[in-house]
Amino acid sequence: MPSEALAPAITRRTPQTWRGSCHCGAVTFAIETDFPELTMCDCSMCRRRNAVMVKVHESRFHLLSGEDSLTEYRFHTNTARHFFCRICGIYPFHRKRVTPDHFGVNVFCLEGFDAADIPVRRAAGRAMP
Ligand SMILES: [Zn+2]
Repeated sequence: MPSEALAPAITRRTPQTWRGSCHCGAVTFAIETDFPELTMCDCSMCRRRNAVMVKVHESRFHLLSGEDSLTEYRFHTNTARHFFCRICGIYPFHRKRVTPDHFGVNVFCLEGFDAADIPVRRAAGRAMP
């Protein structure tokens, strides 16, 4: 007997624009996403910043302000570009290593975002060569 309770959970949301910022507000940005999933990563960088991220293509990422407040950190292969605010120190987003045309965005920088029903995938960054 079909039952609503047995239907798979629909986690994908309606695509919409989300605005985000660092803590001090110097860096502001907008993304468009339907949140297919969130990721955490176990690499030496992500473990320390404890970020939960959503991946967006660069065409769906818009830096609105604060370009000169951003500073950049690279390590290991020096491919991924980890940005953070030089004033408040918050990590709002980075350019990804394997898919450099995509950004990883810190979902806790998004205004009014609630991660409650979105699955979190644990990416194995530490095992990457
Ligand atoms: Zn800031």
